[in-house]
Amino acid sequence: MYDVCIIGGGASGISCAITAARMGLSCIILEKEAKLGKKIYATGNGRCNITNHIFDDNYALYYNSDNNDYVSFLNKLFDKKNPDKEIIDFFYSVGIVTYDIDNYVYPHSLQSSSVMWALTDTLKKYGVKTHLKTRIEDINQSDGFYTVYTPNEQIKALNVVLACGGKSYKSLGGSDAGYKLADKLNLGYTDLRPALCGLNTKEDMSSLAGVRVKAKATLYSDNKKIADQEGEIQFNDYGLSGIMIFNLSGKAGKVLKNGEKPYVSIDFIPDVNDSTIFELFELNKFRKAKAILNNLINDKLAGYIIDNTLFNDIYDTDRYNKDYILALIKALHSFKLEITGLRDFDNAQVTAGGISLDIINPKDMSIKDKPGLYAVGELTDIDGLCGGYNLTYAIISGIRAGKGIYDKIKSN
Ligand SMILES: Cc1cc2nc3c(=O)[nH]c(=O)nc-3n(C[C@H](O)[C@H](O)[C@H](O)COP(=O)(O)OP(=O)(O)OC[C@H]3O[C@@H](n4cnc5c(N)ncnc54)[C@H](O)[C@@H]3O)c2cc1C
Repeated sequence: MYDVCIIGGGASGISCAITAARMGLSCIILEKEAKLGKKIYATGNGRCNITNHIFDDNYALYYNSDNNDYVSFLNKLFDKKNPDKEIIDFFYSVGIVTYDIDNYVYPHSLQSSSVMWALTDTLKKYGVKTHLKTRIEDINQSDGFYTVYTPNEQIKALNVVLACGGKSYKSLGGSDAGYKLADKLNLGYTDLRPALCGLNTKEDMSSLAGVRVKAKATLYSDNKKIADQEGEIQFNDYGLSGIMIFNLSGKAGKVLKNGEKPYVSIDFIPDVNDSTIFELFELNKFRKAKAILNNLINDKLAGYIIDNTLFNDIYDTDRYNKDYILALIKALHSFKLEITGLRDFDNAQVTAGGISLDIINPKDMSIKDKPGLYAVGELTDIDGLCGGYNLTYAIISGIRAGKGIYDKIKSN
């Protein structure tokens, strides 16, 4: 009989196991893939962006699909108010020194493999058993303990932690297995949708595929501003991607779900005022409009704006009149693209939705009215923006469950 059986060997399952095993509990991790932490290896483009120094009191960096009070949930979960410090301390305790790049926190090696190496060595040190290639499809509870059915055996445990992650990126272990288990255990889950993903646009952007530009993008729904982001946008065959678009995708998904029509308005030159553009045209009126615009923005984008949103390119200084330049300025500051959908789960870094926060105690991630059952990480109905927020949530929720199980066993 184990004290803890953890289903899923990703960020949340591993942090839970390390926390519980350090306090002397017997733990086993059951992982369906051939290695632990497949997603962790891929995070931060292989550099593993584990947390971020920017956190605000309202947790606007996180979303929840159910519209329930996820802010107070996170306030209780992140009880130290500085989750970044807790994450850095956790990693230091397994031997990982961190490195900051513009508030984004990485392992000093800038290699996610070093994180996984340290975590797996720590699991071994504390005697955590790990069964790989072990997919769990059934769990039963009776007589005060759980029976977890693997393809080869039955594992008995006093406590079970569902740490199965989301359904994004099948190639990295994403699946709906956790949601099926949640259904079997009568927990249910809220609607799922891709998040931190690209946005499909009505307009054909394929001629700009591969172009990356710095910009500010504002998401609107029926002319109501929903959110904005600054950073890099990448154009693709299907529409838009890049970190700032990923960060808008959660809210775009909500708008689409409500049946509203979202659009993105892009400001390619938020830092340039109108008089500068008038001056540029005055100084360069012997040049083509595309060439003049290329003094400010990417040449392909300049061509696209001239060809598709204004007039054909001209070499006619008479046409560079005030109206022409004002129309160009408008296109540069508010380039409008209609959002028709989100990319699919296999192209989304996280899954929005999951086991409802209504049935989870944020202090220890235990399921209300189901003694001994816990749910942590992305499987639950919280998703964060790019920048280390998802790993932060997964790891801290795992730590809370590990500690909560220890406290419960100790108090009995
Ligand atoms: C490409 C990419 C880049 C990312 N970059 C970042 C980043 O830089 N920073 C950041 O904070 N977040 C990042 N994320 C998100 C982050 O990786 C996840 O939110 C985080 O890993 C979630 O941890 P988890 O433990 O909840 O789930 P996971 O890490 O997905 O782990 C769940 C594990 O459970 C296993 N499992 C599922 N069901 C079963 C079952 N029935 N039986 C046995 N095993 C099962 C899965 O195989 C998986 O290994 C990125 C995601 C992707 C896809």
